[in-house]
Amino acid sequence: MYCPYCRHPDSRVIDSRTAEDGAAIRRRRSCPECRRRFTTQETVILMVGKRSGATEPFNRDKIVSGVRRACQGRPVTEDELAILAQRVEEAIRSRGLGEVPSHEVGLAILGPLRALDEVAYLRFASVYRGFESLDDFEAEIVALRAKRDEKWRAAVAELGRDQAGDGEDDAGDAGASGPVAGAGAGPGAADTSMAAAWQPAGRDGR
Ligand SMILES: [Zn+2]
Repeated sequence: MYCPYCRHPDSRVIDSRTAEDGAAIRRRRSCPECRRRFTTQETVILMVGKRSGATEPFNRDKIVSGVRRACQGRPVTEDELAILAQRVEEAIRSRGLGEVPSHEVGLAILGPLRALDEVAYLRFASVYRGFESLDDFEAEIVALRAKRDEKWRAAVAELGRDQAGDGEDDAGDAGASGPVAGAGAGPGAADTSMAAAWQPAGRDGR
């Protein structure tokens, strides 16, 4: 590698250490010509295998431009797109493979995009999964709603647990048994435990 200062075609490695949790190696180098020092970094280039059999380096910009198209007219910022692309890259890199098929890159986009914007997600999924009829959209929307309900129930259960914690502080030992029994027993039980926790302290058995 050329010296970035004097363009001398050689350099001497004076120190090497792993960086980014072992995903990269950084080398401290010294130029024998001008004596200045600089640092280089070595990482695995993640390759994407295309259907044609060709491979190309993974490119975050490609993710951003693909998703941006699906986000047209949606309240999604460039920052959010950049974060999404970063998440996709991290998810793919965490598998520890040097090469992934392009359709897996598409798959890795679906989850974060669904969390970001449901309409953009539907657009992207319709192209990516090749929706051909209204039935395809309908099935996807049903699945989206189910996921959303799931999230909502989880949030309610979470809230129930928080409220149960507060109840314990107010009502002492007597208040603890009700909410704890309800936790984890499904959304209905969570609702009950929330109601119990909202009752004035001391009402339950004291
Ligand atoms: Zn130099």
